[in-house]
Amino acid sequence: MKHIQEYRDSRLSRRIIEQIAAVSDRNIRIMEVCGTHTVSIFRNGIRTVLPENVSLISGPGCPVCVTDQREIDTAIALAEQENVIIATFGDLIRVPGTFSSLQSEQAAGRDIRIVYSTFDAITLAKENPGKNVVFLGIGFETTAPTIAASVLAAEKAGITNYFVYSAHKLMPPALEALMDLGVSRIDGFLLPGHVSVIIGTKAYAEFFEKYRIPCVITGFEPVDILQALFNLTEMINTGLPRLENGYPRAVTEAGNTGAIEIMYSVFEPCDASWRGIGRISGSGLRFRPDYASFDAKAYFDPYVPEAMPPRGCACGDILTGTLTPPECPLYKKKCTPVNPVGPCMVSSEGTCAAYYKYHD
Ligand code: SF4
Repeated sequence: MKHIQEYRDSRLSRRIIEQIAAVSDRNIRIMEVCGTHTVSIFRNGIRTVLPENVSLISGPGCPVCVTDQREIDTAIALAEQENVIIATFGDLIRVPGTFSSLQSEQAAGRDIRIVYSTFDAITLAKENPGKNVVFLGIGFETTAPTIAASVLAAEKAGITNYFVYSAHKLMPPALEALMDLGVSRIDGFLLPGHVSVIIGTKAYAEFFEKYRIPCVITGFEPVDILQALFNLTEMINTGLPRLENGYPRAVTEAGNTGAIEIMYSVFEPCDASWRGIGRISGSGLRFRPDYASFDAKAYFDPYVPEAMPPRGCACGDILTGTLTPPECPLYKKKCTPVNPVGPCMVSSEGTCAAYYKYHD
């Protein structure tokens, strides 16, 4: 199949749905790890056409949602520094921190700008030589290489007022943590497409060998997702797990080696805290010593106390697949996209926001 329309073919989709029904003989729970998959599954009505015994649960694949409360508080503390311009992608500014949000800080007069690329942030630094520009580095392996590239570009251009707050997260260690946590039953994983374009299938090999759980990397069109769900259902029902690349038009075994090289030339793995999961060994990225002068956390060293997530918010349970949004007592009552209590209702990839928009 060469053209995108073929991945949206309704007749083909129906045939795969019938195949899923034909091999489904028990209750199974498949986690779609990626927020973009969550949205695509809802938008295409995929939950509604699956057999009743195939459940989809959403995982920790929305970068804004998994950002720890204390990391949000740190971003706010950085915004409160003298002569600082915060540059960030849009969703983050509405996420409530413990006492404030970047949006509230912006309304209070802090200089917080939404940018559309890291290079916009570098331009800001060039245009404001008397200020320090801090880019908020939130995201997975998909985003980290471009942020690393911005650091390399700033170094090459001799820009000394550009900094990054690195709160990146790495996906394979989170999958391990989810399995070890064991708070929700997961029979198979729909693995993220965009992250896998960068890290390749081989990045999951160790995880797969350790847990022997069915895993399929997939794209974002309905036929991609349904085919992956069929393959997972079959593997689960036959008890023969595989790690499969269901997105070969974009994902290779080795991934994007150039992007990986750039990412690890600037950053190195470190432990990181994930909302709802806690501290996961080797799941974050910090600056390598050679690039420490770009590290906003080291340079500004803001004091940020331990944080408490918003009272009553179940985002932690949503991100581990323990609860669905309608099971949160605040869902659609105190928490809506206009007045979000937690990040899962803020981000366009957040599970609560997707349920709110598409779930009846
Ligand atoms: S509905 Fe709101 S409060 Fe409840 S888990 Fe989702 S974001 Fe948090």
